[in-house]
Amino acid sequence: MTPAVTGAGEPLPDSTPYDVTVIGAGVVGTAIARELARYPLRTALVEAADDVGNGTSKANTAILHTGFDAVPGTLEARLVRDGRRLLAAYAARTGIPVERVGALLVAWDQEQLDALPGLLAKAERNGYRAARLLDAEETAAREPHLGPGALGALEIPDESVICPWTTPLAFATQAVRAGVHLHLDCPVQDIAYTDGLHTLTTGRGTLRTRLLINAAGLHADQIDRLLGHHTFTVRPRRGQLIVFDKLARDLVGHILLPVPTAAGKGVLVAPTVFGNVLLGPTAEDLDDRTATESTAEGLALLREKGRRILPRLLDEEVTAVYAGLRAATGQEDYRITAHPDQRLITVGGIRSTGLTASMAIAAYVVSLLPDTGLDPGEPAELDPVTMPGLGETADRPYLDAALIARDPAYGTLVCHCERVTEGEIRDALTSTLPPRSAEGLARRTRAGNGRCQGFHCGAAIRAHIEGARS
Ligand SMILES: Cc1cc2nc3c(=O)[nH]c(=O)nc-3n(C[C@H](O)[C@H](O)[C@H](O)COP(=O)(O)OP(=O)(O)OC[C@H]3O[C@@H](n4cnc5c(N)ncnc54)[C@H](O)[C@@H]3O)c2cc1C
Repeated sequence: MTPAVTGAGEPLPDSTPYDVTVIGAGVVGTAIARELARYPLRTALVEAADDVGNGTSKANTAILHTGFDAVPGTLEARLVRDGRRLLAAYAARTGIPVERVGALLVAWDQEQLDALPGLLAKAERNGYRAARLLDAEETAAREPHLGPGALGALEIPDESVICPWTTPLAFATQAVRAGVHLHLDCPVQDIAYTDGLHTLTTGRGTLRTRLLINAAGLHADQIDRLLGHHTFTVRPRRGQLIVFDKLARDLVGHILLPVPTAAGKGVLVAPTVFGNVLLGPTAEDLDDRTATESTAEGLALLREKGRRILPRLLDEEVTAVYAGLRAATGQEDYRITAHPDQRLITVGGIRSTGLTASMAIAAYVVSLLPDTGLDPGEPAELDPVTMPGLGETADRPYLDAALIARDPAYGTLVCHCERVTEGEIRDALTSTLPPRSAEGLARRTRAGNGRCQGFHCGAAIRAHIEGARS
């Protein structure tokens, strides 16, 4: 029997073709694999990295958007609106951390203040009717630490923050348990389509499939080109962010958004579900699809913008900095296309809302299967999954006396900054999708993500990972 998850050094399974293969295990590809798992199909999910959610999906602002400011009438507007509803309900069922903190879109000058009624009308055109205008006094009352000069705000009560790491892990876990084969460390290098079958040349051998779904994020245009399609080019737009220490959390109640401009959504301040505060992102158009480094200029720009929004934030300690690359394509919409003649569905241009929209994108993509000549059959319910409660407001194991009495490993802290216990690390290392690196373990447990960034627990964490391998 083929193992459900394969990785570096392991052979790919026998040459029986898959019905469907998804390239890319980001939040979009894992959501699609999970949706496909409901059908009687033989499905593979193929990922170049050694883990799911290891590309853009691990480095974003983690907002579950309402879609209030989307371009009305676009596919993105529809899928963000539906995706928020689907993901909020799924998160509640599976334990993905979400906090409905709400957002304030703050106007700092008369021009921005004048733009707010138009944004309110746009929200309503996007089907979002709970937004309301606040005057300067109401704005200051909502956010007492806001910098001087805020003239008013648009309040969007349903904007939420979510755990970006647990989301693709939940999707992939459910897909794998339902029979999807996940092939990690498996970069797709070439594709040939003949006689109704795709033959994928990968870093771990060949794999054949009847239908191909290209969810390769920053590389979706390159995968399309292997099949002769030149319809779009990805130009990465880097977003750098600063993570402030948990002591800053009380400074901010809402997600504080700027009034959007043509250059994008702009720099925001947002709480995280882990109890930190984010400042960012920048928006830098680059040519290098690997340029995820932070720069002195980028961080200086963020500090300058942050000082205006929330001056006291800049006095707080910085825990970490990171950067992610949006898969921009020069079009203010997603690029999801079925190519029936080649049994290919391209899921490209999922730029800055893909986390929110992931489940709706998946449902939309699966609705396109019949256009490619593949009848997926009847869907079934998937067995539910329960993910570890990583959120700061969750009942964390180290606080659970009854659990610790049953199993003392939940009372033994390994990562003191994030209060991660030996029991949680053991659970992650023996889960359906065990991590293959310290970074992967951090995304499953928070271990090493705190203010010391693994300085104290790094060696112990590595020992746990090595121990699980031997
Ligand atoms: C700074 C920033 C802030 C953002 N903020 C938000 C937000 O607040 N809310 C929100 O909803 N969205 C946000 N987004 C957008 C969101 O993160 C993305 O839309 C989403 O992560 C895209 O997911 P994906 O699966 O398409 O891409 P990815 O996560 O990049 O996944 C694609 C995968 O394909 C794999 N791959 C590529 N080529 C190959 C190949 N040849 N063979 C095999 N595998 C391959 C890659 O390794 C990768 O794992 C933000 C993005 C950025 C950069």
